Amino acid sequence: MNQLYASYKNYKADKPFDVIIIGSGISGLATGAILSKEGKRVLVLEQHYTPGGMTHTFKRNDYEWDVGVHYVGEVSSNTMMIKKVYDYVCDTPIEWADMGEVYDVAYFGNDRYEFRKGRKQFTEYFTALFPEEKAAIEKYVELLLAMEGYGMGYFAEKVVPGFISKLIGNLMRKKYLKYALRTTKSVLDELFKNDKLKAILTSQYGDMGLPPGQCSFAMHAGVTKHYMEGGYYPVGGSGMFFDKIAPTIKKRGGEILVRATVTEILIENGKATGVKMSDGKTILAKTIISTIGLDITYRKLLPATLQNDLKLPEKLEGLSNSISYCCLYLGLKHTATELNIPKANFWIFPERYDHDANMNDYASGKTNQLPVVYISFPGAKDPDFQNRFPGRCTIEIITLVNYDKFKPWENEKWRHRGEDYEHLKETISNELLEYLYKYLPQLKGKIDYQELSTPLTARYFGAHPLGELYGLSHNTERFKSRMLKPETPIKGLYLAGQDIITAGVAGGLMSSVICVSHLKKGDYLKKIMKS
Ligand SMILES: Cc1cc2nc3c(=O)[nH]c(=O)nc-3n(C[C@H](O)[C@H](O)[C@H](O)COP(=O)(O)OP(=O)(O)OC[C@H]3O[C@@H](n4cnc5c(N)ncnc54)[C@H](O)[C@@H]3O)c2cc1C
Repeated sequence: MNQLYASYKNYKADKPFDVIIIGSGISGLATGAILSKEGKRVLVLEQHYTPGGMTHTFKRNDYEWDVGVHYVGEVSSNTMMIKKVYDYVCDTPIEWADMGEVYDVAYFGNDRYEFRKGRKQFTEYFTALFPEEKAAIEKYVELLLAMEGYGMGYFAEKVVPGFISKLIGNLMRKKYLKYALRTTKSVLDELFKNDKLKAILTSQYGDMGLPPGQCSFAMHAGVTKHYMEGGYYPVGGSGMFFDKIAPTIKKRGGEILVRATVTEILIENGKATGVKMSDGKTILAKTIISTIGLDITYRKLLPATLQNDLKLPEKLEGLSNSISYCCLYLGLKHTATELNIPKANFWIFPERYDHDANMNDYASGKTNQLPVVYISFPGAKDPDFQNRFPGRCTIEIITLVNYDKFKPWENEKWRHRGEDYEHLKETISNELLEYLYKYLPQLKGKIDYQELSTPLTARYFGAHPLGELYGLSHNTERFKSRMLKPETPIKGLYLAGQDIITAGVAGGLMSSVICVSHLKKGDYLKKIMKS
């Protein structure tokens, strides 16, 4: 076994831990790394047999796939905030492979559009296509950048003590909320006249999990801006997040345990004192940080009576889970170069330039045409791929699905869900392959291995109850909530993870800075930026 982690079953603790972190995704690891650097002895507990959360990879037949990372942004310069934080939590920096001048390609039927690297190129490209919208495009790009500044106040408010929040919290949140409480559609309708342009600019909506009519503009702005200076891929695959961050924890006396399922957070006299594991044993620590999601932490790990005492049902109202997904993992016995496979991701839509209508018609059964299909080509993005898997490449194809379709099998065991389930998987796989062959016909007959994950896969391996893509939904209600922050009503219990900021590896990463800043009562972003 990799020496960076151990199995819970075989582990005997020799001395106590200061902090227990539940979940080993990017947020758990990064929080663990920062606290380890502050001299804390950290224990990270992961229910899966592979650590890394959505950054983990899996292997079959000499192929390896990423589960929840296809590209990241804002790592091209050492002065960028996100890059600085990655470098701070990693023992040695992650190397980033540039995806090139075009990072995303959108197809509406046969019409093709590009997302080009760099604010200038981005603006010029869309202006050339829609010259009558020139002024609006410039205003839109300005607004995307301004949202980052507005977000500083909003996210900083999550760190400040309750009394300061009461005093000036509303003021800190105001500028960001002006847009976060509006849907993407509402803001774009105000800016642009051309419906085609609006649909093209929201082509990355799969990165947010909601079409523009339902998604908060804050999430749209955050994601679009995140990638505007280019898409990047971790050299060596997404397993690098774990491989580079875990040593920061291990070298300072911390431990990362897999097959370690927490079933309860122990509370004594209103204070969290430790965790109960699935084998009934308990582990104690003064500080407990949960990164597994707001809903599961509050509803599954806290005693029901306490949930009512804390009025949690009321406080969590309006928050819902993000949509579920299926992913088809493909292995090919050729290199990406041989097959002329691009680095840019494909976003494929029906011919109609209306994401909300496409999504609604699919959900209501009016059409069978998938509202969005996303294709990623890690074998082409990773310059190290050929060293690790000579003569091969991989592809991942994702679409959004309704969990209810898979519910009949939710209590069946992995790999034992029966013929009907396998048949459904085959139907979805074939449908996704049609999309691949339409846009890359040279791949027909070249697939050597294929496997489809369903929401039940994400439920089983990632402990995401509805196999959801991104934890909580990024609707406007989410941004109103005062529960999405590190502080909880229980002393000694804190939250980090995608739910307290937004989804995305960067969201998880920044949640760790927010969490530690609150916990240690210091501005850790400032500290990291100065490091
Ligand atoms: C298909 C897909 C594609 C994506 N693509 C991208 C992308 O290209 N770029 C990008 O930036 N983001 C992407 N994301 C989003 C990104 O992966 C996530 O937002 C981010 O990794 C979440 O990190 P986290 O630490 O908050 O949660 P997670 O990574 O989910 O970590 C939580 C961990 O807690 C563990 N856990 C749960 N319950 C328990 C328990 N009771 N006891 C112990 N452990 C427990 C889980 O097993 C999990 O490992 C994608 C996500 C998906 C699903």
